Amino acid sequence: MNFEYSEKTIELQQKLTAFFEEHILPVEEEVNAFLYNPDNRWKPWPGMEDLKTKAKAAGLWNLFLPKSYGTLSPGLTNLEYAPLSEIMGRILWSSEIFNCSAPDTGNMEVLAKYGSPEQQKQWLKPLMNGDIRSAFLMTEPQVASSDATNIETSIIKDGDEYVINGTKWWSSGGMNPHCKVAIVMGKTNPDAPRHQQQSMVLVPMDTPGLKIVRPLSVFGFYDSPEGHAEIVLDNVRVPKENLILGEGRGFEIAQGRLGPGRIHHCMRLIGIAQRSLELMSKRAAERIAFGKTFKDYSSIRQEIAQSQCEIEQARLLTLSAADKMDKFGNKASKDLIAMIKIVAPNMALAVIDRAMQIHGGKGVGPDTPLAHFFVAARMLRLADGPDEVHMYQLGKSVIKKYSE
Ligand SMILES: Cc1cc2nc3c(=O)[nH]c(=O)nc-3n(C[C@H](O)[C@H](O)[C@H](O)COP(=O)(O)OP(=O)(O)OC[C@H]3O[C@@H](n4cnc5c(N)ncnc54)[C@H](O)[C@@H]3O)c2cc1C
Repeated sequence: MNFEYSEKTIELQQKLTAFFEEHILPVEEEVNAFLYNPDNRWKPWPGMEDLKTKAKAAGLWNLFLPKSYGTLSPGLTNLEYAPLSEIMGRILWSSEIFNCSAPDTGNMEVLAKYGSPEQQKQWLKPLMNGDIRSAFLMTEPQVASSDATNIETSIIKDGDEYVINGTKWWSSGGMNPHCKVAIVMGKTNPDAPRHQQQSMVLVPMDTPGLKIVRPLSVFGFYDSPEGHAEIVLDNVRVPKENLILGEGRGFEIAQGRLGPGRIHHCMRLIGIAQRSLELMSKRAAERIAFGKTFKDYSSIRQEIAQSQCEIEQARLLTLSAADKMDKFGNKASKDLIAMIKIVAPNMALAVIDRAMQIHGGKGVGPDTPLAHFFVAARMLRLADGPDEVHMYQLGKSVIKKYSE
């Protein structure tokens, strides 16, 4: 692959960085104070819509979608998008300003790729406009959901409708008052071959029978206003036209969704790690103990050097995965996607941990983004597939490659 960024990427990188400096960094503390205040839980920060309007006007909108959809996306490749997503990763809530946040990006990819013209008109258009938000309901409390064939929620045809029953949890975005639709995975035919039992269906959040049971916190963080919801679906009825692609096609859609979604998480993790490195370097240059500035201790230089090496390794692996996805498609790139999904969260955790240590008590408190970064990176060792599941698949693929 060519490691040079294209002219288009460089131009967008500069534009995005300038947008951050002018509009986002100056309000970072204010937004954090708002979002971490329990009195504001599930309320979006009031200035968010204004920033979205500005981002849209600047052409920094829907940058994630590889192929153009109407006029609402510039149609960047994964390779072109990677460094832009990295910049957005530097602040946990900033991707939404550019309509590039999970789980909406994955859901928009599903609708753009597999949605009917009616589904696209009803849900994709408002999602791409940033008028509504969405959730993806796959994981269930009662079964090991890292093996998606275990998903038990039933989606049963009844005349012109589907009737849905089941319990979901860790539905990210489900608490957001702007979340209007969920993509729900469940079984339409438990007797079909293992990978043809599951289907995906669109469920408006206000459908009778859909009940939010509770928000789930992650190490005490609620990730407001998106949140992670536990949801019960009790005889939820939707028109048969809400089924995506067709009965038994759920697995196919899940594979199509998770490839890009996984690499987007990794790109943001590189941004998280890069910012942590910058924070620890700054701290090392100004703090003094035992008569020496931290930056002059060999052990601290080693921690910083090690972090720089690991970030660059993960960045190049991410770019390599993005390049292969662009050239050969998501399926052909599955091993590289697995590699980066294993590497990026663990790399970020190691770098953030060093940054917290160099900051002393401040590193684990509320005055730096490091504690929340740590939590975000930790949960990404689970979300979109635990490390072990990616290793299980990757190991199988590598053994096959060298043993046949
Ligand atoms: C903050 C957060 C946000 C999330 N957002 C969403 C969302 O929006 N939508 C959604 O549907 N889900 C979401 N998830 C759920 C996430 O994808 C699942 O938690 C994950 O897939 C694991 O499923 P499980 O929790 O059922 O764990 P299980 O399937 O029970 O697995 C538990 C553990 O078993 C081990 N294990 C499993 N398989 C193997 C193997 N083959 N080899 C060795 N060890 C193995 C792993 O250590 C794994 O972590 C989110 C999770 C979190 C924490």
